[in-house]
Amino acid sequence: MSTPRTLFDKIWEAHVVAQRADGRELLYIDRHVVHELHAPHAFAELDKTERTVRRRDLTIVVQDHTVPTRPGLPLRSANIDATGLAGRRHQVNVLDVADVRHGISHVISPELGWAQPGATLACPDSHASTVGALGCLAFGCGTSELVHILSTQTMALNKPRQMRVFLEGRLGPGVTAKDVALHLIGAVGIDAGRGHAVEYAGAVIRDMGLEGRMTLCNMTIEWGGRTCLIAPDERTIAWCAALPSAPKGEAWQARVGSWAHLHSDATAVFDSELTIDCSTIGPQITWGTDPGQTLDVDAIIPPTASLPADQQERHQRALAYMDVQAGQSLIGTPVQRVFIGSCANARISDLRLAAAVARGRTVAAGVKAIVVPGSNAVKRQAEAEGLDQVFLQAGFEWHSSGCSMCAGANGDIGAPGERCVATSNRNFENRQGRGVRTHLSSPAMAAAAAVAGHIVDVRDWMPAEAQA
Ligand code: SF4
Repeated sequence: MSTPRTLFDKIWEAHVVAQRADGRELLYIDRHVVHELHAPHAFAELDKTERTVRRRDLTIVVQDHTVPTRPGLPLRSANIDATGLAGRRHQVNVLDVADVRHGISHVISPELGWAQPGATLACPDSHASTVGALGCLAFGCGTSELVHILSTQTMALNKPRQMRVFLEGRLGPGVTAKDVALHLIGAVGIDAGRGHAVEYAGAVIRDMGLEGRMTLCNMTIEWGGRTCLIAPDERTIAWCAALPSAPKGEAWQARVGSWAHLHSDATAVFDSELTIDCSTIGPQITWGTDPGQTLDVDAIIPPTASLPADQQERHQRALAYMDVQAGQSLIGTPVQRVFIGSCANARISDLRLAAAVARGRTVAAGVKAIVVPGSNAVKRQAEAEGLDQVFLQAGFEWHSSGCSMCAGANGDIGAPGERCVATSNRNFENRQGRGVRTHLSSPAMAAAAAVAGHIVDVRDWMPAEAQA
């Protein structure tokens, strides 16, 4: 009888090509996504060492971090042009900003069918784990690893420890995958998954759509996870079947059949397991400067003295940076910016949720609110559904796709002291501009804050049909 294996074991073992003398294993990479922050340097390094891209057909170059997204701005820059030139010189498929497939790496990888159940994927960005939602094993990499992958189509890795997280219960009104992710990080801490491959399971996952799973997997990095997976199920199959790139007929049946083993065996052993009851979670809003400093929106910021001694200094520093007080509720806190976008929350289901709150309302005076679709495909779909008009009529800016204010690498940043409710994944000091105070939330919470002009409990703002 074969040894019971986890889903991670199965994908990992199917991709190991060699054991290295340094103890790391060499993993074959099925798909590779390179973005413009790293591409010029990586291609220059290949040129310098007279190497070429080993599998041009398995590599795509995308433009996301620095792309101007504001309406009316030219979509080009020196960096974007340099990336396009380098990619084309190496005969790699470049999804330039004008390409209909353009978008944020982690949004377009699933959209294009580039990320597949049971496959491996690498990207020079930590949030590569997003595609774990499909059962695709993905790893972020640094620039030197990127050069290695480009030239060998393999990646050297220490096999991570494994953790399974059961998310149980039924989500309440106004509670989304983002709220689950933030609550989880708040409950276990930002280091709990350090270096682990995480598998998510449980009733919440079974009930959750693929795009919600992507949000959850995206946020795994924020509590230290190295990567994550969700076993493909009927929802995964249906989602993949709807992709334009999906094969038809017997070829599709064969593909689905090849996924049948992609689950953890019943008696497979993980290094650790934990269970979170999600039935009592409220809509989340972060109060501090890491994603674990989060609250049910109707709760109060905990007193510093209630925390373990080794966390108190960090807690006080976060209170000072965010200009909030222990014991305070965030409801009613004025905001000057709202950002609905990023690889965490800029898919069509996210925009539908935000639009449901914004419909027929007006952004409060003094609030600059922007909506940045995660890809051109998301933008086209949103426009076909009239969501752009909902946002524009409410006073939101409707941008073209890119990372935008998630990290501000394209210049979309706030002013010092401004408070921003953002649907992105990081609320670190100065991430959205020097001195900007970022509160992470779901798209619906962010839209409600834009309209109210301050932080609100989205449950009071949701249309009746969304409460059901
Ligand atoms: S949206 Fe944000 S987290 Fe995602 S790839 Fe872009 S900068 Fe990174």
